[in-house]
Formats: sequence, structure tokens, C-alpha cells
Amino acid sequence: MKPVIALVGRPNVGKSTLFNRLTKTRDAIVADFPGLTRDRHYGNARLGKREFIVIDTGGFEPDAGSGIFKEMAKQTQQAVAESDVVIFVLDARGGLSAQDHDIANYLRRLNKPTLLVANKAEGMKEGSQLVEFYELGLGEVLPVSAAHGQGVRSMIEAALDKLVWPDELETPEPEESVIKLAVAGRPNVGKSTLINAWLGEERLVAFDMPGTTRDAISVPFERNGQKFELIDTAGLRRKGRVFEAIEKFSVVKTLQAIENAHVVLLLLDATEGVTDQDAHIAGFALESGRAVVLAINKWDAIDSYQRETLQRSIESRLGFLKFAPLHMISAKKRQGIAPLWTSIAKAYASAMVKMPTPLLTRLLQESIVLQAPKRGGMYRPKMRYAHQGGMNPPVIVIHGNSLDNVDNAYKRFLEGRFRKAFDLVGTPLRIEFKTSA
Ligand code: GDP
Ligand code: GDP
Repeated sequence: MKPVIALVGRPNVGKSTLFNRLTKTRDAIVADFPGLTRDRHYGNARLGKREFIVIDTGGFEPDAGSGIFKEMAKQTQQAVAESDVVIFVLDARGGLSAQDHDIANYLRRLNKPTLLVANKAEGMKEGSQLVEFYELGLGEVLPVSAAHGQGVRSMIEAALDKLVWPDELETPEPEESVIKLAVAGRPNVGKSTLINAWLGEERLVAFDMPGTTRDAISVPFERNGQKFELIDTAGLRRKGRVFEAIEKFSVVKTLQAIENAHVVLLLLDATEGVTDQDAHIAGFALESGRAVVLAINKWDAIDSYQRETLQRSIESRLGFLKFAPLHMISAKKRQGIAPLWTSIAKAYASAMVKMPTPLLTRLLQESIVLQAPKRGGMYRPKMRYAHQGGMNPPVIVIHGNSLDNVDNAYKRFLEGRFRKAFDLVGTPLRIEFKTSA
């Protein structure tokens, strides 16, 4: 599971500058759930081989008289609670404030690995003005400059060193061919209703699987001989022999479930249309390379005019998920939910496809005969052979000369040919070019 680092600190210390530097992405996931006072951003980041999720908590906004604990957005507390390490950002130029003390007290009680950093430290003499921050009693203070990038790498190394990494733990190997499924979507789109409808099906048998993930609840079950593991996103609780959905939505859990899944079933609410949040979650799934099945729930609740409008907005707003099968369902009325399994199984098979080198190379050569790549720059790209570079998502590596100039249209053409040949549905397909000297 990807670890989560939360950036905490009062407003204006440089959290979002730091966040942008770490994630290097313009389209971070923005939590726009009701009740959120300030935007909270989630993003993927990487240091060497280590990948992690960063949350910019937006900041504490204490109000005179009512105390920081009350004023802190509930969601911010949740983000901190769900993170593995907290980076507490201070302002090296502004010095300590009462607010910093409040935050320090709060963090100290959490007993969570915490790293103190003093931002805006560019051009400052080593250690000179950082002494006062030791007063917070949270240990060492690292000087950084988010704006200039100084100290950021050592900061992340120090934060990550506070973690025990999954590959350092003994995690039991999951059983062969268990399809890990994440049902993702905003609050109230109908995730629990769908899961309960499924779990109520006779064909679905829950079974015990030893050693499933540490803290996330996952539900193993079997359907028509295929084993599945439902990764918790909706907040499920086991009550005797039945599973009960509890009302609690967590962005972090959703993102981690997406990371851990083979297939993401992304639920949308037909009565709400395609919201920004839906698009963000979809974008995250795509970025993670996960197979995706789209289901528009509450189809029963909209009329034919609304249905048409919705279908158009799916095409325009979720066009980047064209590879994902689309289902219109009603979880409540149990309509259209059985066919989801077919798409999920198919998406899984596509994500795990094995593509032999001779076949890939033959397909590549046939494609070139059909349509040769355009000359770009001095030389015409020459593609020689292709091999599979990975699965989940499948990656095809094409070798040759002068491949830097192959345009996107041609790449899409090749992708279409490969998809068709291997009957790939529901999974992203990545194509990479390797130019030999
Ligand atoms: P946030 O409210 O904690 O998210 O803070 P921001 O990231 O929005 O930054 C607040 C202000 O501090 C902005 O004007 C930034 O340009 C500035 N800032 C951020 N990082 C640095 C830094 O490393 N050095 C200096 N001098 N200014 C910075
Ligand atoms: P979750 O937060 O994603 O788990 O959403 P829930 O499963 O709790 O559903 C939220 C609300 O939507 C509940 O009031 C459900 O009864 C309702 N709902 C769920 N599925 C459907 C559906 O297919 N049609 C309609 N009309 N309502 C639904």
C-alpha cells in the first residue's frame, strides 16, 4: 500500500508550494466534498522507486475563542489520521506563532511519526534561526525551500525513513487469480447499495481468506468459480455472516484501494451527472494504470431526456476513459448489476494479458505496411520489433531507430491495432518507444 504523507501547518507557510513541487502535477485530486472549508489536495509523488500519496491539508484555521480542535475541519483531522507520516511545515522567516504551538500540541497527542520542516529557508545561514523551533518539542527541524527546491529531497527521505515499507514486512502472497476489485465513487453514488445487492445474491459466496491486508477490511468472495477480493472503499463492517456498509467516505482509502486493485469499478450518480470529483477519481485510476469499468447508477431515477444529456457529458468529460466498458444500472432495483461481472472479469483478463514477442512483432509489421509512420525531423522512424514490457497495465515496448518523433496520432493508431488483436477491454494500454543507438 502506498504510504500517505500529510502536509500540515498554518496558512501561508508554503504547504501548497511544497505539494506542487512533490507531485509535479497540475491536476491533483481536489476534495470538494460538502462541508470542506478549504480545498484539500491529494496527489501522487515518487522519490526514486518509492511512491507515496501527498495530502495538502489546506491548513488549520483557528478562530479566536473557540479553540483549534473545534475549528479544525473534520476532514483535515481525518486526513491527518489516515496519513502515515505528518510533515509539519513552519515558516523559517516568520518564526513561531501561537498557532504553531497549538498544532504541535495536537500532533504530539496523535503519536504519529512527525517531521518538522522550516520553509522559506533559502539564503539563511545553516541552523541560524531554526533554534527556536526546537521549543515545540517535536525533535529536529529541517530547513527547506519549497519555492527553490532546496532540502526537499532530504526532507522526503527523512519522512519516508520513518516508515516501515510494505516490502520490508512479511506480506502473505495473495492467492492465484483472485481478482481484486475496488468499488470507487463519491459519497452517495450508491456503492454500499450495490455491494449489498451483490452480497445478497445467492451466487455470491463469502469465504475466509487468511492474512488479508493489515488495516483495510477486504471482503473475499467467490462467484461462478472465480474468486474476488472486494477492497474496502465504502467502509464495510462484518456483522456475523453479513457485511454491513457503514457511512464513512475516505479519499485516502479510495486512492489506496485504486492502487491495490486489479479492476476499479467506478460508480457515478445519474442524478448528479459527471462531477469534477468523478473526473478526478477517474483520472487517478488512469494515472495508476488500473483497469476501469464505469457504471452509471440510479439510471432508474432520470428520464430519457436526462439520459441523453448524461451520455453526451460522459463522452466529453470522461473521454479519456474510452477503453472502459460503460454500464447503466440501478443498484436499488437490482437492474443491470449482474452483467458488471462479465465486464470486470474481462477487464481483469485484459489487464493481465500475455502478449508473445513474435505475435507483437508481426502485428507491428502488419500495421506499418498498412500505414507507415510519418517522417519527423531528419529521419523516418524505423520500428523493428515489439515486446511486452509489463502487465496491469499492459505495456508494449517498441524498438527501433529515430522513434523520438513518432507522433501521437500514430501511437493511437498502433494502440487501436494492438487492442483489437488482443481483444483488450477495460484496461489502459501503454506504448513505449526505445530507440537503439
Ligand atoms: P500554504 O497556505 O501553506 O499552502 O502556502 P503557499 O504554498 O500558498 O505559500 C504562501 C506564500 O509563501 C506564497 O506567496 C509562496 O510564494 C511563498 N513561499 C512558499 N514557499 C516559499 C519558499 O520556499 N521561500 C519563500 N521565500 N517563499 C515561499
Ligand atoms: P454510497 O455512499 O456510495 O455507499 O451510497 P449509498 O449506497 O449509501 O446510496 C446513497 C443513496 O442513494 C441511498 O439513499 C440509496 O438508497 C440511493 N440509491 C442507491 N442506488 C440507487 C439507485 O439505483 N437508484 C436510486 N433511485 N437510488 C439509489
